[in-house]
Amino acid sequence: MTVLSADTVAIGLGANLGDARQTLSWAVKALAQLPQTQLLAVSSLYSTKPIDSSGPDYLNAVALVSTQQAPLAFLQALQAIELQAGRERPYRNAPRTLDLDIELWGDWQSSDAVLTVPHPRMWERAFVLVPLAEIAPQCVSADQLQVVANQGIERSLEQGWWQA
Ligand code: ATP
Ligand code: CA
Ligand code: CA
Repeated sequence: MTVLSADTVAIGLGANLGDARQTLSWAVKALAQLPQTQLLAVSSLYSTKPIDSSGPDYLNAVALVSTQQAPLAFLQALQAIELQAGRERPYRNAPRTLDLDIELWGDWQSSDAVLTVPHPRMWERAFVLVPLAEIAPQCVSADQLQVVANQGIERSLEQGWWQA
């Protein structure tokens, strides 16, 4: 169940090292400045306990953009933003300063390991589904939300958190 136009990308943002809130706010602005890309919507900020990961609590959000960029170029642009934020990959699921995942891209499906879309683990992650449902409710069913309902996730009520 995904109803996004073909050029619309849902991006999951996460961070749990350093000043995570500041990094996510910076990352949203960096997304807005990508070439051939418009920022459409940004969810509230959410906090979650690490699941398969470790370290401090995570902050998460989902952004919707529309882009004319090609998928692999766009993934590389996201990885360049991660690197600018000091992302390192010492081991799988390590704590991170910034993670930018492509969750959905219109109704496009890709099984390529370099870029799998929809993101293969999004349907088991409250930190993706809950913010996504906030800004694109047509993309997430009640049943899908129910699957992750036991995962603790807290929504910050701060409006325009990323603009500060
Ligand atoms: P997870 O994928 O479970 O969320 P992760 O985000 O920590 O874990 P990374 O180390 O950030 O994993 O990414 C590993 C690789 O995943 C990247 O090099 C990228 O090529 C690949 N990848 C495949 N599909 C996607 C996608 N939809 N969005 C982002 N990266 C993807
Ligand atoms: Ca991820
Ligand atoms: Ca990632």
